Amino acid sequence: METKDCVFCNIINRTIASNNIVNETDDMIVIKDIMPKAPTHLLILPKQHIDSVNEITEEQGPLAGKILLMAKEMAAKYGIADTGYKLVFNVGKHGGQTVKHLHMHLIGGKQLPEF
Ligand code: AMP
Ligand code: ZN
Repeated sequence: METKDCVFCNIINRTIASNNIVNETDDMIVIKDIMPKAPTHLLILPKQHIDSVNEITEEQGPLAGKILLMAKEMAAKYGIADTGYKLVFNVGKHGGQTVKHLHMHLIGGKQLPEF
């Protein structure tokens, strides 16, 4: 996919406005999901366009690790570290991935259903 056609790249590059950005580092941003499924529903995404977990390379391992550490940090910031949360990567058609830019859902703030 051309990154100019990617909604998350466009948010990262500020090509489209988003007042949903809640955190940003050199290599990641965190945004509020536009259709939240729980009181806290954030998306953690690398600035680099990677289609999905399927395309993560060995070299990008540290970046993938940073996504998890960001989830931990944001869970604490949003006060859901103790009550718990789910971290979800949807991958491909059967995984229900709708945006083809790697992102991890951080979902919490209420009792969530079992998967
Ligand atoms: P997935 O199904 O894992 O690909 O999740 C994509 C998520 O991105 C969905 O939960 C959408 O609600 C969310 N989403 C789509 N467009 C935007 C946007 N412009 N800003 C914030 N979240 C978005
Ligand atoms: Zn992208």
